[in-house]
Formats: sequence, structure tokens, C-alpha cells
Amino acid sequence: PAPGLTPDYPELLHTAREAARETAGQGRVADYIPALATADPDAFGMALATVDGEVYGVGDWEQPFSIQSVSKLFSLALVLAHGGDRIWRGVGREPSGNPFNSLVQLENEHGIPRNPFINAGALVVTDRLQSMTGDAAGAVRDFLRQESGDPLLDTDPVVAASEAGHGHRNAALAHFIAAHGNLENPVETVLDRYYAHCSIAASCRDLALAGRFLARHGLRADGSRLMTGSEAKRINAVLLTCGAYDAAGEFAFRVGLPGKSGVGGGIVAILPGRAALCAWGPALDAVGNSVAAVAALDAFTTASGWSVF
Ligand code: GLN
Repeated sequence: PAPGLTPDYPELLHTAREAARETAGQGRVADYIPALATADPDAFGMALATVDGEVYGVGDWEQPFSIQSVSKLFSLALVLAHGGDRIWRGVGREPSGNPFNSLVQLENEHGIPRNPFINAGALVVTDRLQSMTGDAAGAVRDFLRQESGDPLLDTDPVVAASEAGHGHRNAALAHFIAAHGNLENPVETVLDRYYAHCSIAASCRDLALAGRFLARHGLRADGSRLMTGSEAKRINAVLLTCGAYDAAGEFAFRVGLPGKSGVGGGIVAILPGRAALCAWGPALDAVGNSVAAVAALDAFTTASGWSVF
């Protein structure tokens, strides 16, 4: 769109949906958490929430899905909002280049995970948020409720139990981190609260609204300040370099926006100063990113010409 003209958001979302449709049949729904395997691989939704308060959507944009690792964006934001920079003593901010549930780097790095968006790093973030609030998952849930305006948004207990029942890798990560003295709370508590925030069910609409503070340089829906503009910039930077697992480079190449994906098939992406987007389709590529959501975001930024570059 020409500068100064109101962009045709519905048309851009339509273009994105068409690109998502062309991926039909590609990818596979996550099944390592059995409760996620029942998701409809053909579902697709996308929402856009502008900094001025407009919300647009297409497809199944109001249907709740399991947010999974998208929750890691919000747990990090809340830890930074509560405690500032201290978190960076316990977790790094370099891309890992390894799968999101990998154990291999922890040993060499003395129990300090590479970044807050791989599982190991998110466990440390959950631990600190637990210390700060007494209920890390409740803090994430309440933030999502407030930003989306949906008071019923909550953890899906069936998904949380399914994760806990198949959580050997996460338990191994947590115990290893604890062995290095990098957890403040009992391993069982950290895992329980981590599963509870990953298992929150929310829609594209909810997540676009909840991610909007990153497009508004730290301002929440009610106009209050969650964090400084500098902190929001830093989160966007870590999202860009680490938000799409070991495909963060490919995601930057195709979409050109900071973003966070989850194995429920959702991806939240930020257009700083303009809008937050959320696209969702349950079928995942080999590293765990939604095939349809990446295609939709790629088409959206290509058609609009918007990226952080
Ligand atoms: N809860 C999931 C896990 O711990 C989150 C993974 C993801 O979305 N990448 O494995």
C-alpha cells in the first residue's frame, strides 16, 4: 500500500489465507503430546490487531487452540516486567541451532540455556516467574485474559495432563538445570507450571491482541506500561533470532518479522509500531513450525511490503 493510505487489511488477510490453502496436505500435526494429535490439520485462522485498536480476522480466527511455545513469549515478558534484567544471568540470548527440546548444549553451558524460547530456557523463565508471582501459569493466563478481554481463557487440563504424562525430555532438562543450581523452585513445581502455561487454549484473535504490547513499544491494552520501549525492542530481537526454533533463519528470510511459534500450530508475529499478527494451522514442518502459518505470514509480508527490514 502507498504510504499514508489505510492499508486494506481484509484483502491482505485474504491473500494470506489463499497462500495457506496452497499448503493443504503438507506437514503433520504434532503427536508427541498425544492430546494435540486430534487437531484438524485443515483448520486455518489468522488475526491482525493494530496499534490503534482495530482487529481483523480470517478463517478460524476465533477458534481456541493449544498455544504451546507461544506462551514462552508472554512468560519472558512478564519476568522482564517484574524483575528486569536479572533473568539474563540464568538464560542466554543466542540462537541454538538445535531442536527446541534438545539436551546437548546444556552440559557445555553449565546449565545456562542458550535462549528463553527453547524448552530449557523457558523452564528457567517459568521458574523465575513462579518465584515472582507464586503462580507462573496463572500470571500468563491472567495477562492473556486482560489483553484479549476474554475472561474464560484458560489452561486445557486434558492437554496439560497429556504433556505431563509424556514429559520425560522436559523433566530431564529441568533436573539437569537444577543440578547446576539454576532453578529456585522444586523441579516438579516448575514442570507443572510450565505445562499449565503451554496448555492454555487461546484463539488467533486473543493472541494478536495479547502480542500487541510488542508492537506498541511496551504499552498494554489499557494504556499502562508493561515494560520500557527498550525492553520491548529486546524481546522483539530475541524473537527474531530465536523464536522459530532451529528455523529462525528461514523464518526471518521468508517472513522478516519477530515471531514465536508453538507446536499447536500457532505463530505470533510483530510489526513494530503497526500491528501484531497471529496465524494458525495445526500441521507442522520437520522442525515444528506450522506450514500454513508460515506460508500465510510470508504471503502477508510479501504482499504488503512490510517487514523489519
Ligand atoms: N509444551 C511443549 C513442550 O514442552 C512446547 C513445545 C513447543 O511448542 N515447541 O514440548
